[in-house]
Amino acid sequence: SGVPRVSPNCNIRVIVRVRPTNEKEQQENYQNVVKVIDDQMLIFDPKDDEQPFFYHGVQQKRRDLLKKPKRDVTFVFDRVFNDNSSNIEVFTNSTKSLIDALMDGCNCSVFAYGATGAGKTFTMIGNTECPGITYLTMRELFQRKNDLSAEREFELMVTYIEVYNELVKDLLNPGQPLNLREDSKFGVVISGVKGHKINDPEEMFNLLRQGNKRRTQHPTDANAESSRSHAVFQVYIQMTIKGTREVRRAKLSMIDLAGSERGSSTGYVGARFKEGANINKSLLALGNCINSLADGHRHVPYRDSKLTRLLKDSLGGNCHTIMIANISPSSLSFDDTYNTLKYANQAKRI
Ligand code: ADP
Ligand code: MG
Repeated sequence: SGVPRVSPNCNIRVIVRVRPTNEKEQQENYQNVVKVIDDQMLIFDPKDDEQPFFYHGVQQKRRDLLKKPKRDVTFVFDRVFNDNSSNIEVFTNSTKSLIDALMDGCNCSVFAYGATGAGKTFTMIGNTECPGITYLTMRELFQRKNDLSAEREFELMVTYIEVYNELVKDLLNPGQPLNLREDSKFGVVISGVKGHKINDPEEMFNLLRQGNKRRTQHPTDANAESSRSHAVFQVYIQMTIKGTREVRRAKLSMIDLAGSERGSSTGYVGARFKEGANINKSLLALGNCINSLADGHRHVPYRDSKLTRLLKDSLGGNCHTIMIANISPSSLSFDDTYNTLKYANQAKRI
């Protein structure tokens, strides 16, 4: 239909998830500005959806951006999940496939990107009724470990840290900020972090939820500060192939990124990013690294931030990356949603 489909043979997959509208978005007559066409396509601010709305016989405009023409932009991604998708559905069609790569010894990373309130934490962590994709991925990993137990000896260790203000803090063992270092076995690791050996996915889920409560928060407005921290959950996997001396290692990193909303006015989106006082350094650097990889540049500026230094051996090359862009469907988040879609669209060129 003239719309380019996404290249199937690349190592980054870009996924968009639309969350359901919340009470506020429903009550105040905001319009829905995201139309999911199929499992790969959506239209942002569609033209053909303008429905007149009458109040006391007078036609009202539902949208707050009255004078602007409709953007009417079609986006295509590896996968689009609409507002009634479940965490299980997202998992089945995204991170489930990473298990094979991990078994082969490839590092994998998963990012949840989007504005505060767009559904990043719901997707990554979720709750006891709807556990997020981190739990579901770990459950699958344990399943595979059991299936392979006759052939392989496994060692699994997890860490959970946050990058806040360019400082690395252990969410499972609070204390002084930590440094990154190179390890001969696992590549970039966090010096002095407390690694947890876990026996089952439930144990991991409890750690994850405890750690998440420790993310840096503002005393009065939880969202204002926690939205600036990147939560990084990592699994270090070591597999010894029985009867041989072969040892395979891989890292899985699952990252609940800082809210992208600061980019709205200062511009995370665009051909190249500009640094500004309010821009989250790690989020900016991640965008630049992904752009460099997407453009096929040989130099990727991993060294520009803590987050990208930590993930330098989990992005590009043989690594598998999944970017999940979370968006609200409501006109209340018009700019954030448009910016997130543009950011995600740039990432898919890798
Ligand atoms: P973020 O982490 O991006 O700031 P959250 O994940 O905390 O956003 O989501 C904001 C609110 O919306 C939460 O109350 C969350 O439970 C709810 N929510 C987000 N995504 C979904 C979804 N797919 N289905 C149901 N509720 C959701
Ligand atoms: Mg969150």
